[in-house]
Amino acid sequence: MTESAQVGDGTRAVRAGLPEAHKNEPTLPGPVFAAHFHLPGDVSGPYTYGRDDNPTWTHLERAIGELEAPGHEDVETLVFASGMAAISAVLFSQLRAGDTVVLPSDGYQVFPLVREQLTAYGIEVRTAPTAGDAQLDVLDGARLLWIETPSNPGLDVCDVRRLAEAARARGALVAVDNTLATPLGQRPLELGADFSVASGTKQLTGHGDILLGYVTCRDAELTASVRRWRKIVGAIPGPMEAWLAHRSLATLQLRAERQNANALTLARALRDRDDVRDLRYPGLPDDPSHPVAARQMRRFGCVVSFTLPTRARAERFMAALTLVDDATSFGGVRSTAERRRRWGGDDVPEGFIRFSAGAEDSEDLVADVLRALDEAAA
Ligand SMILES: *Cc1c(COP(=O)(O)O)cnc(C)c1O
Repeated sequence: MTESAQVGDGTRAVRAGLPEAHKNEPTLPGPVFAAHFHLPGDVSGPYTYGRDDNPTWTHLERAIGELEAPGHEDVETLVFASGMAAISAVLFSQLRAGDTVVLPSDGYQVFPLVREQLTAYGIEVRTAPTAGDAQLDVLDGARLLWIETPSNPGLDVCDVRRLAEAARARGALVAVDNTLATPLGQRPLELGADFSVASGTKQLTGHGDILLGYVTCRDAELTASVRRWRKIVGAIPGPMEAWLAHRSLATLQLRAERQNANALTLARALRDRDDVRDLRYPGLPDDPSHPVAARQMRRFGCVVSFTLPTRARAERFMAALTLVDDATSFGGVRSTAERRRRWGGDDVPEGFIRFSAGAEDSEDLVADVLRALDEAAA
């Protein structure tokens, strides 16, 4: 354990990954734009070629590592060009033809495509829902268990400790998609996972202006295999994106505090309306996800979901919002929402809305949503 394990989340977030202070140097060094580095004589690291490593990534990787596993200096983080680049890196570096992987059946919308690709490579894919720890029933013989909790967009939660123990007992590795919770909401490695994998595109960076992904891993050999995959595929973030992400991390605690509080306030305002059905927010005490979420999460995220009676009603609601952008993705400082079914993928009703609470003043946000609901009903 180091000092970083003792301080609060806000303190850790503003200092995460900063290099040692040197007179006349900036606090957070600017992005290093380099395809190659001076390399006289024999090849030695750390920086040789820009697809292998970059000092701007190093700072960001240390920062994310400190948030994912404070005080554990053996834990390593690798950054990627996007969340999907990070997810693919773990799946395709760990699985071989003949292996079995267990995925969530209600996970991120690209998973059906991932499944097709894994199957084409001779990997057996089993799926089960997140709720009720249903993945437990299909673990036998698996090489890797993939968990997404809270699930997107359904917001079901599974017991990471319980699933990870069961997987470990069967010799399977465990990866958790930590996108929705962020490392301030949940620390998968402390709950027993081998990998914490996430899209940094969402609340982690929180401004809706960059794509990023990362893998945090407790084991040096596993990390080396993921690093090798990054080098082969070249799914690397640009230095500018990496630097912007690091800059954004300083406000992660502030943003999460405001956005998650807004999500809870909004959920409370919606629960008694008869036009709103199947309201879900893991932070609501009577949400089906709450008991497990309260045990393993430190914050419940900024995403709320609910269903309006019809597609037309949901479309009118979306059109009537003035402070909420109709856009996909989530986690940004500006509230966004969408009628999820328009993509065709997720198994949700036509009127299903995924709502991402931003950092607006709570009264303004709630008033806008309630007014839009009333207009949609008229
Ligand atoms: C957005 C998202 C991803 C993919 O991330 P990208 O940065 O868009 O590639 C993966 N998992 C979850 C849960 C997500 O929400």
